[in-house]
Amino acid sequence: MWIGTVSLLPEMFQALHHGVIGRAIEHNKIQLNHWQIRDYTEDTHKTVDDKPFGGGPGMVLMAEPLYQAISATKAAAPITPRVICLSPQGKIFNQSAAKQMAKTKTPLVFVCGRYEGIDERLIEDCIDEEWSIGDYVISGGEFAAMTMIDAIVRLIPGVLGHEASAEQDSYMDNLLDYPHYTRPAVWRGKSTPAVLMDGNHQEIANWRQKQRLGRTWLRRQHLLNRVSINPFEQKLLTQFLSEHNVGEPNE
Ligand code: SAM
Repeated sequence: MWIGTVSLLPEMFQALHHGVIGRAIEHNKIQLNHWQIRDYTEDTHKTVDDKPFGGGPGMVLMAEPLYQAISATKAAAPITPRVICLSPQGKIFNQSAAKQMAKTKTPLVFVCGRYEGIDERLIEDCIDEEWSIGDYVISGGEFAAMTMIDAIVRLIPGVLGHEASAEQDSYMDNLLDYPHYTRPAVWRGKSTPAVLMDGNHQEIANWRQKQRLGRTWLRRQHLLNRVSINPFEQKLLTQFLSEHNVGEPNE
């Protein structure tokens, strides 16, 4: 996958050169390239922002340097890319969007705003989609772009050492992940659930599925509407709820 970023702080993307995504870059699973908007200014001060028309606080990223930077990025992409702008007003990014983007062969360009945002005319003319990482405002699009890139790239086949570890992750099938434990078996007086220590794979699978259903019910109940639960899973969920002293679903 080919990924380009357009921003005022390309050095922030160094954070992606570590861990899983760092290895994906090393092993050429992705090509990650960065464009600095200031390189596409024409004045000696490399001005990228100006005061908002109509007054008000803050500065606005000007359309022309961004237009030039996006054009250069598009020209470097192997085929016409999908140009994504990070914005708190965009569509909320989630695991199903990450899965869809991980499947596409289309290069992705992430355009990062700063200050009060980007001149609206640039968004109308050059941006294919606006995406948000959540209903809150951060200072720039770089962390948002990195969040999306990480979530997408770890789903590209061959990127995670253990293929199965993405499959069981929270949200992959609209259920949350089950809780994890490792050595020591007893830590500061707290034991690991006995079922995980007995080596009965069927019992472990049933326990884990019960935790996934129960945790989803407790923490993200709306997701259960998207899951078709069979009678056995319904029994597991009922057991979980009675073990946790909570009522039946839909009670
Ligand atoms: N004035 C803008 C508004 O209220 O909609 C917020 C501008 S914000 C301080 C600067 C930049 O950070 C935005 O242009 C966008 O690129 C990025 N940003 C902020 N919050 C974001 C979010 N939740 N998701 C994606 N990008 C975000």
